[in-house]
Amino acid sequence: MIRSAEAQGGLPSPLTVLEDERLGVRGIRLLLKREDLIHPEVPGNKWRKLRLNLADAARGDHTTLLTFGGAYSNHLRAVAAAGRMAGMATIGVVRGEELGDKPLNWSLKSAAANGMHLVFMDRATYRRKHSAQVLDRLRAEHGDVYVIPEGGSNAAGVLGAMDTPGEITESYDVICCPVGTGGTLAGVAAGARSGALAIGFSALKGGEPLAKDVARLQAEAGVPTGNWRIETRYHFGGFAKRPPELAEFAADFERRHGIVLERIYVAKMLAGLFDMAAQREVPAGTTVVAVVTGPAEDPHDGAVGRVGLEPTTHGL
Ligand SMILES: *Cc1c(COP(=O)(O)O)cnc(C)c1O
Repeated sequence: MIRSAEAQGGLPSPLTVLEDERLGVRGIRLLLKREDLIHPEVPGNKWRKLRLNLADAARGDHTTLLTFGGAYSNHLRAVAAAGRMAGMATIGVVRGEELGDKPLNWSLKSAAANGMHLVFMDRATYRRKHSAQVLDRLRAEHGDVYVIPEGGSNAAGVLGAMDTPGEITESYDVICCPVGTGGTLAGVAAGARSGALAIGFSALKGGEPLAKDVARLQAEAGVPTGNWRIETRYHFGGFAKRPPELAEFAADFERRHGIVLERIYVAKMLAGLFDMAAQREVPAGTTVVAVVTGPAEDPHDGAVGRVGLEPTTHGL
């Protein structure tokens, strides 16, 4: 179990009103669910999705966690830190070939510093990473590991993500979160108050097929709901792309509100929500909760795409 978040008073995560004239003139009230503040090393939705996975692993007497991610994966760093805190060994299977003599990027370096053993997997095999064949091979190689799928999105992850809306005592009409693998949306929708609509903002280009994943994850967790949809217009060019208009939105948001936005997921969601408000797609009188699923990237984030692997290897 990871207990330190409770010990640090990180839960329930704060719910704050965001006063912004761009929404005010449209009659929209926005509340931010500050999941980014839950825990410094296992923040946001990663904490939610890992909590029950670590409990399951401990219950099964597992001593090693094995999981998957891209070269800049927030999930890999979170599992490395959570494993260290829980006293479990961690193995991170990284998408893409070994770096040779190139140094690890800041994200993998941070995972390794928390004791994570990094294993590199070619892209063709990585695409089949959750297949029985690949998992059997990994188990043969690494022993009786507890496998957490990419992004921590499995039934335990979905049930953990239900706690996010579960903590909200105020009334709301819409709850928004970003979508990568879909586990967070699956849980946020399942845990949302009755009558509320959950909107997931896809951080990936061509996010339409993610709906299948969200439905499957809800079914696996035994919590299917019909109260959600995925908004696919605000990918800003694709996963981990940072066009100037997204940077400008985030810089302006920071000037107005003093909050530095995580760019890969959170800034896209909020830019999308503000645009939908401007287009009058959100009716006046609507109260919206936006789930801030994680903190801004590491200060060395400027290094993304320059050190280590090429930018297309950003992971979930
Ligand atoms: C991992 C991550 C997501 C994606 O969540 P999924 O459950 O994979 O859809 C969203 N926001 C942040 C900040 C993340 O780190």
